[in-house]
Amino acid sequence: MMSGHFKRANSTVTKPFVSMEPETSHNNSSTPLRLFVDAKKKINEIFGEVASHMKEGQEFIIGIPSELHVVSSDHQEKVNESYNQVQGIREVLARDHMKVAFFGRTSNGKSSVVNAMLRDKVLPTGIGHTTDCFLCVEGSDTTEPYLQVGDSEQKLSVKSVGQIANALSDERICDQSSFVKVCWPKSRCHLLQNDVVFLDSPGIDVEPNLDDWIDKYCMDADVFVLVSNAESTLMRTEKSFFHKVSEKLSKPNIFILNNRWDASANEPEMEAVKKQHLQRDIEFLVDELKVVTRQQAEDRVFFVSAKEALITRIPKPAHTPDSSGPLADGFQARLFAFENFERKFEECISHSAVVTKFEQHAKQGKQIVTSTQDILDEALQASSQKRATCIEKRKDRTDRLEYVTTQLKLLTGECKEKIKDTAEQAETKVSAAMTDEIRKLSLLVDQFDRSFHSDALVVKVYKEELQKHLEAGLGRNLDARCSSAVMHDVHQIQTQMTDGMSALLPDESKEQMGSLLFRRDFDLSYRLDCQHLFADFSENVEFHFSLGFTALMNRFLGPKNTRVAMAGFANAIPRPFPNADVAGATKNEEDMTVAMVTGLASLTSRTSMGLMIVVGIVWKAVGWRVLAVGGGLYSLLYVYERLTWTNKAKEKAFKQQFVQYASEKLKLLVNFTSANLSHQIQQELSGTFSRLCLEVDNSRDTLKKELIQLEAESQKLEAMMSRAKVLRNKAGWLDSELDRYIRTYLQH
Ligand code: GDP
Repeated sequence: MMSGHFKRANSTVTKPFVSMEPETSHNNSSTPLRLFVDAKKKINEIFGEVASHMKEGQEFIIGIPSELHVVSSDHQEKVNESYNQVQGIREVLARDHMKVAFFGRTSNGKSSVVNAMLRDKVLPTGIGHTTDCFLCVEGSDTTEPYLQVGDSEQKLSVKSVGQIANALSDERICDQSSFVKVCWPKSRCHLLQNDVVFLDSPGIDVEPNLDDWIDKYCMDADVFVLVSNAESTLMRTEKSFFHKVSEKLSKPNIFILNNRWDASANEPEMEAVKKQHLQRDIEFLVDELKVVTRQQAEDRVFFVSAKEALITRIPKPAHTPDSSGPLADGFQARLFAFENFERKFEECISHSAVVTKFEQHAKQGKQIVTSTQDILDEALQASSQKRATCIEKRKDRTDRLEYVTTQLKLLTGECKEKIKDTAEQAETKVSAAMTDEIRKLSLLVDQFDRSFHSDALVVKVYKEELQKHLEAGLGRNLDARCSSAVMHDVHQIQTQMTDGMSALLPDESKEQMGSLLFRRDFDLSYRLDCQHLFADFSENVEFHFSLGFTALMNRFLGPKNTRVAMAGFANAIPRPFPNADVAGATKNEEDMTVAMVTGLASLTSRTSMGLMIVVGIVWKAVGWRVLAVGGGLYSLLYVYERLTWTNKAKEKAFKQQFVQYASEKLKLLVNFTSANLSHQIQQELSGTFSRLCLEVDNSRDTLKKELIQLEAESQKLEAMMSRAKVLRNKAGWLDSELDRYIRTYLQH
């Protein structure tokens, strides 16, 4: 089956001008295939960057707390999707290669063409159909070739073409539906090194299911080579296959190799035949398939001899006899044509593969990068807006805090002043009312209508009841006169304080202020403890003749001096007002009066002798009748007074004494009561004020906490903004890299 022995047509013919150098010396850097290799390297690099950018972007976007509302969940999903998409593209890109598929009828020389191009006998060739399955040749990084059948990962070791042929002839692995991969060391062939993959097919005259072929093996092919037999014209099967291909793929790159052209070398009508083939092939490509223009078509049709190309390209070991046989006339032209085909093929496949393999991905990459950039832009804008709002809020809160602090200071001074004033006013008011009430005390005492009796026990109870009556009455009167006015003032101040303080509180706290601050149980208490106050009151309801000696003394000397004078008399003289103080007398006046009284007392204490002398003198002067009348009148008056000294009179006297006594005592209580009331008011208002202050302090604390939160949020947003900016700029850079890539590799 193997046809490795060819003879040169003319042994004297020198080496063809085509390079006969082994593959290793092929100038790899000058091949048009570098375009694809470079483009692939570059796009892989770019996508590597895109992937790391997407990873960073994904981490950033997903990491943004949802409560900040900077990115929507849709955007987060989109970034996730894009990241996965990029990973998918990277996998495809890493596998991307240029694929050339060879079709033609059996024995037209497809395998020979592949071998000639690979410059080695990689595929078995022979007469009759050699390949019953699809054979794919691709480069491997191993030093020895191996086979893989179908989807199996198993590597079947092969060392030579013969072994491949043997392996392929093994019925177990090779039927028409099988796919065999020949992995050939890249180091042996520059085409494999440059990522070209060859696909050899069974003859299209053998396999009827063309659709299946195309779907399975041809959709990713960059170039199709129709290997026809130059000895015959294009067959219907060949044409119909390519019609199907061009239906499924838009404008496929098709080359037509009229192989075995060496067989027609000696034909006399060779040129005419060539012209005819050329014309028909061009018509097929241009008019029927409409895949190229007429001008382009001339670079797609070649007349070659794969057999000759292969012979001239396989390096022969030294001292080996030339077994290839003679080459037919004009082989140089055919070799040149083959080389020409290879050059055009390389140009075409690299350009085409760059476009088909990378254009879509570059555009997709651009889309992904742009949409990520948009999302980052939105995140940047949203976080920038949020930050601006945050700063605004922070400023507002700082101003508010400052305002509240200053106002609180002012209000504190103001409120203290008001509290003091109100307390003082209340004190004055109560003091005035109490003085007035004391003045009208007799009215209150007169209103007490309990029956009086001079009996000591009755008097005791009467006194107690009267004290209670006085206490209640006074309390009631003071309450009626002062309480409502004072309470009104207190409430007014409380309202003013509340209003003032409310202005320092946020709206939501204002409403509950009123209810919080007024103590409903607050009531004024006058603290008139009369029972204790009047404890040492002692009444005098004994009969006293108004012209009696003591009464006269009282009238002329006053009660105090009388008492002093009486001290010289018997202890029986009653003391009308114990401890009653007389204000106004100076020390000297007192001394003089005491001297006079003492004199008088000493006078009275002498015997009735003196009195008799006086009576005698008066007797002499006015006569006994006048004395008798005077004495009579005096006695009458005494009797009269004695008779009118009834219980009623005693009650009156008692009440008078009580009023006088109580007035004195209550006067002493005025300051205490009013000060006490003022203290109560001060306490109530201070209590209200401190509760208000507490509310304001709470609100200040809330403001401070809010400020700390806003500061933290603003810092977080700032960090987010700078990260979003970096990522957005990187996306912009990647976008421009992809643009540059498109300009460099795709816009030819
Ligand atoms: P395939 O079935 O299309 O793969 O064809 P092969 O490559 O196996 O070739 C079939 C036969 O044709 C082999 O014996 C080759 O030696 C022979 N052959 C291939 N190419 C040429 C050529 O250009 N000239 C001549 N004379 N014979 C060729």
